[in-house]
Amino acid sequence: MTGMTCYDLHTHSTASDGSLTPDELVARAIDQGVDVLALTDHDGSEGINAARRAAKETQLTLIAGVEISVTWGHNTIHIVGLKIDIDNQNLQQGLSSLREYRISRAHEMANRLDKEGIAGAWEGARKYASEVMLGRVHFAKFLVEHGHAKDMSDVFKRYLVRNKPGYVPGQWATLEDAVNWINDAGGQAVIAHPARYKITATKLRRLITEFKEIGGVGFEVVSGRQHPEEVKKLARLANQFELQASCGSDFHGPENNWVELGRLTAMPESCVPIWADW
Ligand code: AMP
Ligand code: MN
Ligand code: MN
Ligand code: MN
Repeated sequence: MTGMTCYDLHTHSTASDGSLTPDELVARAIDQGVDVLALTDHDGSEGINAARRAAKETQLTLIAGVEISVTWGHNTIHIVGLKIDIDNQNLQQGLSSLREYRISRAHEMANRLDKEGIAGAWEGARKYASEVMLGRVHFAKFLVEHGHAKDMSDVFKRYLVRNKPGYVPGQWATLEDAVNWINDAGGQAVIAHPARYKITATKLRRLITEFKEIGGVGFEVVSGRQHPEEVKKLARLANQFELQASCGSDFHGPENNWVELGRLTAMPESCVPIWADW
């Protein structure tokens, strides 16, 4: 496959809920043969400068990105922003409001766990998180450490999803705000991992229609650990709605050994890649 550029446009670092620092992530991406890497931490871009420094004078191209949490109806949707200007004020104000919300949500999660007899979750989760972002993964690590579940997927199922004791329904950005922040920062807005939402096909089409109307341009056709048939289906949707196709592993760390950087199903030839005019 020489001559093919390897793109991985959805990854996480310790600046959100990933387990590698931005430097370590860049080093691993180079090891894995990634040519173009986007760091897309949840609701923040604090890792970008470090990743840029690490990528400087290597063959790796680092794309500044972010993954914004959105509440759309009763669903949490993730919108990836690629090629964003991280100095854009509207974007940064929006992201910082989401991180503030994360703090209050985390207190609420800790209170709910406390009522279930699990004390110390706030401090416990904080210990796993960076200064900037607190999320469910950090609570999950605390709960596993204290023997409340055997692993990450078990802990989410038992504590951290809807109708479970540690779950707090999200109140994230509106779809329109998220897309506007990204566009204002000169970026491209992409619907992340479209197959992962528990919504009907009709609802997904409605999401895409709204997303396009407000200026969204991209659709993550290829995601980590995805069935080839799923990729084909998403490619058809992207083409039908004239959205550019993106691909990303959603890598969170080497401990999740079923996902690796740059190890993705090929982008279907019928798609217009999001990098077509980069
Ligand atoms: P948050 O944005 O804080 O609500 O956390 C969402 C993050 O939790 C996702 O980006 C994943 O990293 C992680 N996550 C969500 N569901 C699961 C699951 N079932 N198993 C493991 N990790 C999960
Ligand atoms: Mn995550
Ligand atoms: Mn996501
Ligand atoms: Mn992600």
